[in-house]
Parts: sequence; C-alpha cells; structure tokens
Amino acid sequence: MDDIQKLLAQDRSHLWHPYASALDAPVMFPVVAAQGVHLELADGRSLIDGMASWWCAIHGYNHPLLNQAATEQLQQMSHVMFGGLTHPAAVKLGSLLVKLTPKPLSHVFLSDSGSVSVEVALKMALQYWQSKGRPGKSHFIALRNGYHGDTFGAMSVCDPITGMHHLFSEVLPRHWFAEAPACAFDAVCTEDHLADMRRLLEMHCSEVAAVIVEPVVQGAGGMRFYSPDYLVQLQQLCTEHDVLLIFDEIATGFGRTGKLFALEHAQVCPDLLCLGKALTGGYVSLAATLCSEEVAAVISAGDPGALMHGPTFMGNPLACSIACASIELLLSQDWRQQVLGLQEQLQRGLAPAAELNAVAEVRCLGAIGVIELKRPVDMARVQPMFVERGVWIRPFGKLVYTMPPYIMDSIQVAALTAAMVEVIATL
Ligand SMILES: *Cc1c(COP(=O)(O)O)cnc(C)c1O
Repeated sequence: MDDIQKLLAQDRSHLWHPYASALDAPVMFPVVAAQGVHLELADGRSLIDGMASWWCAIHGYNHPLLNQAATEQLQQMSHVMFGGLTHPAAVKLGSLLVKLTPKPLSHVFLSDSGSVSVEVALKMALQYWQSKGRPGKSHFIALRNGYHGDTFGAMSVCDPITGMHHLFSEVLPRHWFAEAPACAFDAVCTEDHLADMRRLLEMHCSEVAAVIVEPVVQGAGGMRFYSPDYLVQLQQLCTEHDVLLIFDEIATGFGRTGKLFALEHAQVCPDLLCLGKALTGGYVSLAATLCSEEVAAVISAGDPGALMHGPTFMGNPLACSIACASIELLLSQDWRQQVLGLQEQLQRGLAPAAELNAVAEVRCLGAIGVIELKRPVDMARVQPMFVERGVWIRPFGKLVYTMPPYIMDSIQVAALTAAMVEVIATL
C-alpha cells in the first residue's frame, strides 16, 4: 500500500470528519500544503481553493506576514492563562476590535470558536436581564434559516427545521423563530417583511432577552442575502420592546460582504456582536464577543458582579498575535476594491449557470458567489468532479457556492467559476 492509501486507511479507521459517518465516510483528499489560493494535494495535484477553508483564509495560505507574527509570538510564549494575567497581543487585539466596530461596542470577550462566542453572547444577554431584576427574560428570538453554531446554546437558536440540529430538539431550550427576511438585498423592506418578528416581540417581549440574527447574509442556513433596511427596522423594534440585539458576524466580518462588517450596510449597531472565522485570517481558532458599555456595566453591577465564563485558552497569545497581523494586513490593502472586483468577476463567471436546468438562482454579494440548485447535490458524486477540474468547492444541500480568499486573481476566479458552471451543467 502506498503512503497516501495508508494515510487514508488510518483516517478512515479513527477520525471523524465534520457532519460525516465514522464507518462510511466519503472520499477524503489528503492535503499536504497550502500556498496563496492553492491547496497542494498529496498526489501532487494543486487546487484553486474556492472555500477559503470555510470562509476564513481571506489572505490566502502561508502568508509571510502572518507566518512572521506567529513565529515572533512563539518566541515569546504560545499560551498563558488569562485569569489574573494579561499580555500585549490580547490588549492590542481588544483595542483594534473596539476601534473598528461602532462606538457603543466597548468590551471584548475572547474565546476559542464561533460557537463559543455565540454562547457567550447569549449568556451576556441572560445575565444582563438578571442583573436588571428581570430573570423572566430568558428566551431568544432568532430567524428561520439562521445558523449560529454547533454547541447547545448556539444550536437552540439555529433554524429548528432546516438547521442541522433537529435531532436534539428535545433537549434544546425552546426559543421563537421569526420568518426569514424575504426582502432582497437591494429591495426596500416594508412593514410586512417584519410582521412576523413584530408579532413575536409583541407577544413575548417580557420573556425575551435578545434577538439574534446574522446581518445581511444568512450563511450556513442557506446563503441568503437580505435588505440592510430590515436591520434598521429590527433595531427600532428591539428598542421599543426592551430587548437586546445580537449580531452574529462570524461569517460576514472582515470584509466578506464588501463592508468591513455587514452592519455597516445598515449603519446599525447591535448591543452584542460575535466575530470569528476570518478573525485570524484562517490560521488558528479564535473568536470574540463584543458588547456595549451599557451591557458590560449592567452585568458587572449585578450579582455575582462578573460574567460567568472563562475558557482555558481564553485570549490565547498566538491566536491574538495572528489576529492583529491579519487585521493590519487587511487594512493596509485596498480590500474594498479587491472584494468589489471579486463580486463583479463572480457575477460574470457564474451568470451562465442561471441558464441551466438544474439551477434555481444565481446570486453574488461581495466575495460570495452562490448557485442555488432546484435539488440537493449528491456530494459523493460531485466533490471529485470539482477536484478533477482543479478546484476546491464544497457544496451543501442545494447550494454550490464560493467564498474565495480576497487575493484570488481574475484568471483564477475565471477558472473557478468555469469549473462550477461546468460541473453543474452535467447534473
Ligand atoms: C461558522 C459560524 C458559526 C460557528 O463558528 P464555529 O467556529 O464553527 O464554532 C456561528 N455563526 C455563524 C454565522 C457562522 O458562520
């Protein structure tokens, strides 16, 4: 057996992969290195990466400046506990995040992954109302088609039907779900579009701690784009009904939609903001929950006078240093032009797919290109077809989409989109 086959056999024997069977896992492609927008496979093939490793690797792979930040931090310390200690990388990252986000957001809680940052946001909202003497405000309102992560609290605010967590619905806390915004990105949002949200708030606001939404783009729940105007009206509704507003920008943060944060499309500031994914440019896991001065003050003034959360690897210095370098790298470039350029190239490259029988809709926003099919794809069949054409695309359900690294050039985008259209044409 050659080395690649041996590796794959061992992988199959012992490892779980995301949302996969342990016994009957689909074909895996061993990757040995990654450089720029390319993944290098063990068999010598090189793939143009259309996924940016689940939307994180915005600068591409193996970037000299991020490597340098990691190496320098390793010489100092890779990790140190955050209880009772602090360090320059976390302090710098905290200041950067506060500076880049709207004014009322002033306090940063660092955690290990996007899901945990959502748990922390939910916990902050619950503690906020407890501190205010209103412990009955212990539920949440989320959107249908929403996705907020895989841990239990996060799962409880994911779409209960189309979400990936319906198996656990018996043990998850029950929350309320408003209809997904039906107003397209560039459409006007009318009263009707918020009718269901308004109804839920009117009925339940005395029991609701917060509304949680992914602003402008609903990611893993369906890659749907909606009008920023919805957020303006949602914020007004939340204020009127005395309910906090949480934005989950784990997918949209750091330029993906053409704004540094998707909330800028609406000029709306939430009480709590979750960041993750592209935060470290795809190098290591790190996430952050930001909250307003008011939320921080109320929680800290209540009983027990502290936020009751503290992961072992909170504020990990290696991750914080790389995050600072990634953000500085992003801001040092004309990333807006890059993302806008990608939007135009994706629109052009994916447009022919709209003519295909299997396709329901093609849509693009910022560095996100989505082909929605009429029927779910057969991943086991389709995945190798992309690899044969030299690209890495990982569809889910009815969605064949790309969220490429921002550094992808027009020739690479053209190759990527051509392969997507070609594969879909065979369905
Ligand atoms: C990916 C994602 C999460 C979960 O982040 P993990 O790092 O996978 O835990 C939560 N919310 C949104 C919007 C995401 O895209």
